[in-house]
Amino acid sequence: MTETPDAPLLLTPGPLTTDLRTRQAMLADWGSRDRRFIDMIARVRKNLVEIAGGAGSHTAVLMQGSGTFAVEAMIGTFVPRAGKLLAVVNGAYGRRIVQMCKIMGRACEVYETAEDRAPDALEIDRRLGADPTITHVVVQCETTSGILNPLPVIAETVRQRGRRLLVDAMSAFGALPSNARALGYDALAASANKCLEGAPGFGFVIAREAALKECAGHAHSLSLDLHDQWQAMEKSGQWRFTPPTHVLAALDTAIALHAAEGGVAGRGARYKENCRILVDGMKALGFEPLLPAALQAPIIVTFHMPADPRFVFQAFYDALSRRGYVIYPGKVAETPSFRIGCIGAITPEKMRAAMAAIRDVLKEMGVTDGRPAAKGAAA
Ligand SMILES: *Cc1c(COP(=O)(O)O)cnc(C)c1O
Repeated sequence: MTETPDAPLLLTPGPLTTDLRTRQAMLADWGSRDRRFIDMIARVRKNLVEIAGGAGSHTAVLMQGSGTFAVEAMIGTFVPRAGKLLAVVNGAYGRRIVQMCKIMGRACEVYETAEDRAPDALEIDRRLGADPTITHVVVQCETTSGILNPLPVIAETVRQRGRRLLVDAMSAFGALPSNARALGYDALAASANKCLEGAPGFGFVIAREAALKECAGHAHSLSLDLHDQWQAMEKSGQWRFTPPTHVLAALDTAIALHAAEGGVAGRGARYKENCRILVDGMKALGFEPLLPAALQAPIIVTFHMPADPRFVFQAFYDALSRRGYVIYPGKVAETPSFRIGCIGAITPEKMRAAMAAIRDVLKEMGVTDGRPAAKGAAA
């Protein structure tokens, strides 16, 4: 891993710390209709399908914008106007999908569980049995709190009920298994700037070709029409509208680094080790993770706010930021919390250095115990 001295380390859910070589790949300009750039598009698409384990059945369609644009393009293109979506929700990203459905006029039933609870495949089965008009199910592979949702079991339930599966695997793709053939999804959305460690600027959808073929005319939007984008990429090898040239070049390099690290297994192992160092280190200081170990994905960890009034999150954040470590506020609705990410071009050694900085800052603040208030105690 090539690091830049003195660059801030982003312990966030993305955009993430990137390898110096990935950033250096952005130092050239590319003609968007030039042969070399067209070859790069083809290479990135092919490699993405390979990472997804979808060679022969799936294709990759790239979409300008942040990850949300890719998710919105996936929902709008795959769910027909007369279709109905069952949205499995346990965090902010799931609620965002429900909001998309309202805006684009797709019928949507919501199955919501608490942000620290995994969805129950039996409940999904019950709802699909009760409502034969549900055509698609959408689920996050990992969400707001850092929870690992049971994707394989849910995929099997959806398959047995003969419905179509859509996956938002934004913060998991590249580090956690999301095998296209095994899970049998119609589409999976992710982005360049999460576990693939590219720069922010576009997302992509891994789509089952036979399903995507049926999606002409579904989309509610010209720019977010994945079918149209796919047709253009197949016919001319190009994006329809101005492509994020530098960001594609960065992802091309980032994917080569991903392969050199041992692909999904290698990257997942490093994140797991980062996560272990973080959770063990924070627990030793009294901090409590929101999730039990069995539900914790090695992506981002949510910690309860400590009870000690000397702990002021903004001061903690600012002091860490001055030392070169950028953490993240909480996003879990019901519980006061903050988050620290384990992903990005971060070695276990750097994670240990981050833990040392956290210990320093707490000492400076006079916080000796990170324990949260006892459950049921007055806030
Ligand atoms: C990051 C993320 C998104 C997309 O967020 P953007 O800010 O639009 O890139 C969507 N879903 C999940 C689960 C995510 O982690």
